[in-house]
Amino acid sequence: MGNYNYVDIVCDVPTVGDKAFTYKVPKHCILPYGAKVHVPFGKRNVDGYIVDQGVPEPEFEVKDVLAVYDLDFLPPRPLLDFGLVLRDYYLATISSFWGYMWPPQVRKIKIATEGPITSYDTFDQTEKPSRRERESVTKHEELFIQGSHSFRWKMYQDAIEKAISAGFSVLVLVPEIARASIVEEELQSMYDREVVAVVHSDMSNVARRQQWLDIKQGKKRIVVGTRSAVFNPVRDLGLIIVDEEESPYYKAEEYPRYNGRTVARMRGRYQDCPVLLGSFVPSVVANFNLKEGKIRGVTEGFPAKENIDCQIVSLLGQKKRMLITKELHLAIGETFRDGNRALLFLNKRGTASSLVCRDCGNPIFCPRCSVPMAYHAREGQVVCHTCGYREVAPTNCPICDGFTWKPVGYGIDRARSEFQKRFPNVPVFQLDKDVKESTEEAIEGFISSKPSCLICTQVIFSVKNLPDLGVLGVLSADNILNLPDYLASEEVFRLLNKLLSLVNSSENGSHIAQKKQFIVQTLNPDHHAIQGVLDPEHFYAVETENRKALRYPPFGYVMKVTVSGKSQEKVIAASESLAAAIKSYSGGISVLGPSPAPKAKVRGQYRWHIMIKSNDQILAREVLKESLSTIKDGQVRVYVDLEEPFSLS
Ligand SMILES: [Zn+2]
Ligand SMILES: [Zn+2]
Ligand SMILES: [Zn+2]
Repeated sequence: MGNYNYVDIVCDVPTVGDKAFTYKVPKHCILPYGAKVHVPFGKRNVDGYIVDQGVPEPEFEVKDVLAVYDLDFLPPRPLLDFGLVLRDYYLATISSFWGYMWPPQVRKIKIATEGPITSYDTFDQTEKPSRRERESVTKHEELFIQGSHSFRWKMYQDAIEKAISAGFSVLVLVPEIARASIVEEELQSMYDREVVAVVHSDMSNVARRQQWLDIKQGKKRIVVGTRSAVFNPVRDLGLIIVDEEESPYYKAEEYPRYNGRTVARMRGRYQDCPVLLGSFVPSVVANFNLKEGKIRGVTEGFPAKENIDCQIVSLLGQKKRMLITKELHLAIGETFRDGNRALLFLNKRGTASSLVCRDCGNPIFCPRCSVPMAYHAREGQVVCHTCGYREVAPTNCPICDGFTWKPVGYGIDRARSEFQKRFPNVPVFQLDKDVKESTEEAIEGFISSKPSCLICTQVIFSVKNLPDLGVLGVLSADNILNLPDYLASEEVFRLLNKLLSLVNSSENGSHIAQKKQFIVQTLNPDHHAIQGVLDPEHFYAVETENRKALRYPPFGYVMKVTVSGKSQEKVIAASESLAAAIKSYSGGISVLGPSPAPKAKVRGQYRWHIMIKSNDQILAREVLKESLSTIKDGQVRVYVDLEEPFSLS
């Protein structure tokens, strides 16, 4: 009696949510609010966080805290409090957001059951009076900068300069790791190398922990990183920059599916510091808000690209099954004659999308997912691009025992063989998730040969040092355009512009005298997303009208709920009762579904979707939150995606 302190802990166990459990620690050890601990939970040990330090001794027997994570890495209190704001906004758990705020693989320290008094609570949790408080010149405000790379960065640099010289720190978010490294180098050339930190998931855990400490202690005053860098304990934060705000890479792939851009804006509000958002082609929502004056902005517009010739080539009426049209062939040939390089883009991996039995018409499905497997001719394998499962392509059909197969659809491997037939003497390199040769090898080969060709998927955006391009050909983007999702058009528009910037970015110090060529092959030549390459304003005008008619963002909110589990019956039952609960709130909310997700089974888990549309975001969140609490079945998991969810994922 009296030998223990009692603490309340939320465990990182999704099914129990934020329910706190009481544990005990020896009297001599005092653990602070937010401390990350290791505790027994049921039959296993899990991580958890202290949410209450001094609770009265309970009537019942409680378990011991086993270990505490090195408290040097305890996030500052304001950041922990901000985590609670995010938890509420994303209808998530405390653990999910506090987890992001710790660096990876922090040392665990076992709690000694007896010994001298060890207070773990001695370190300085409140920030010392900082330069920030003395000067207190910044206030939260948002400014949107629309313009070319050089236009935006000129403005960013002015703002960074101002913040740094006033004694503040700066957080710069970019969508991809490749961009982070480039920006880091640029900033290091302008400021003391020592104060610039880059943070992304490709760094070693040791480096990330050291970086984290340096940032917390204020040694690093300019922090550049990808989306999760937004959770860094930046000291005296005085400016946040989110570049390429429209990028889907800001959205977390795992749950809670936060958007780094949204978190950055919320953090700016929470910590009362200015936020700069920038883009050449803003998201449809941002573009609307800019035009309507709902956000302050500076716009450069879309200056004509004098050094690039953009061409849209219709595939309508073209000879079937040719991936390279006559127009593209001519442009590539011309580029090669001048000794320049070509890049061909196709976002489909493998040789064919699927293998279909000629006798019974059934494709080969992944045994774990409800998706047909792609065919890879070179390896003679069928591969599931959802879960990675692969096997030797079967000789006989598992359904009818037939033995003739028809490849349906095409992929990057087929584009490569077609290219090699047309240009047998030009070295070609391939870049996609499936290719064994590493990214660096492919890029080095592409750079060191001239002429040369690179055939790639979206992996290209992770490449840092792309050489000058004479021609960039988009073999097709129709597969995205045809997706039945309100975001499909915006995604194609964004993707094409991002590709266009690859041709454009090599403008500095370019050795190519002739005009560069950007060619898009498509079955939808008049579609506004395709035409948007030539005229972005046209894209925004048409897309905004379409969204308005259907009450999609920015004219309404869309949320997605995914219910998943091993038992199909339980998943269906839970999604039906959840949908019914949401529908029971009359007015202002419309519910689509429940229906099987487009990938109705992934890795053996059945998945059902419910889409929610509303004009009132706050109401919809409240209703969803209430309805979620009606799910009692521990064998199904419910995931919510609250910001511009892609309905097909
Ligand atoms: Zn593949
Ligand atoms: Zn068959
Ligand atoms: Zn699979």
